[in-house]
Amino acid sequence: MKPLDHRNFNLELEKRVRKVINDYGLIDDGDKIAVALSGGKDSVLTLHILDKLSRESNINFELVAIAIDEGIKGYREDGITSARNNALKLGIDYIELSFEDELGFTLDQASKFYKTACIPCGVFRRFLLNRTAHKLGSDKLATGHNLDDEVQSFLMSFARADVRRFAKFGPKQERIHPKMVPRIKPLWTIPEKEVGIWAVLNEVDIHLAECPYAQKSLRSRLKNYLNHLEEERPGTKIKMLEFFQKSLKMDKKEVKLYECQLCGEPSSVSICKACEMWGIIKKGMD
Ligand code: SF4
Repeated sequence: MKPLDHRNFNLELEKRVRKVINDYGLIDDGDKIAVALSGGKDSVLTLHILDKLSRESNINFELVAIAIDEGIKGYREDGITSARNNALKLGIDYIELSFEDELGFTLDQASKFYKTACIPCGVFRRFLLNRTAHKLGSDKLATGHNLDDEVQSFLMSFARADVRRFAKFGPKQERIHPKMVPRIKPLWTIPEKEVGIWAVLNEVDIHLAECPYAQKSLRSRLKNYLNHLEEERPGTKIKMLEFFQKSLKMDKKEVKLYECQLCGEPSSVSICKACEMWGIIKKGMD
């Protein structure tokens, strides 16, 4: 098998990220974009790609990186080092905050009061990121959410019947409050596996270790399940993403039903699924 050429791989990856940015209008001329930088592969790729685009594209925008140290002993320190190194290497303004300084406790301490540490972690990290991005005058907050994250998040909301969270689905949020900095997700269609390949091929300084709290989370269980499904049926994740996107976009008024031309039953297409399948089965049996 031919070894992967990292330049071609990078170009292909960038092309897909640019497509999401253009298709969904993630970045406007003059934007100040804060990047939530954890030091993990997804946020580091987001920073690198946006940095490249800021220098190459005809849209003018500036970047600032924000790293949050949640206070996870033996884990977060290395992530913060990678975050700092990457921002420094690219010459991007870098802000570092910690739960301990800003909130008065570490995540390790807060986790004792919750079933999983991910609950306070997510809530406070979002809080600090948004507050800081807003204070800095940012127009957007870019996160490293990839295709896998998005499908997992959707299924988690689904499993919890948390309809309000569905509004967060998609590569771009609208500004729904003057103090809420809209999120953008440039890696929205990029599978996690490809982000990992990018990091290895380009020998990027990233933090690879898994959070000690991750295994207990629903996300982690869904992740394993989805990876298993993807292995058996390649393309499942992207199809799920497309399905979620279509179903959320769909206004009820847009749902039109016709009558099947063969059986006359209601159908969204000219020949209903039952007739289509019946035809195939009948043909196979003859
Ligand atoms: Fe936070 Fe949970 Fe992620 Fe660990 S796995 S960084 S606790 S959200």
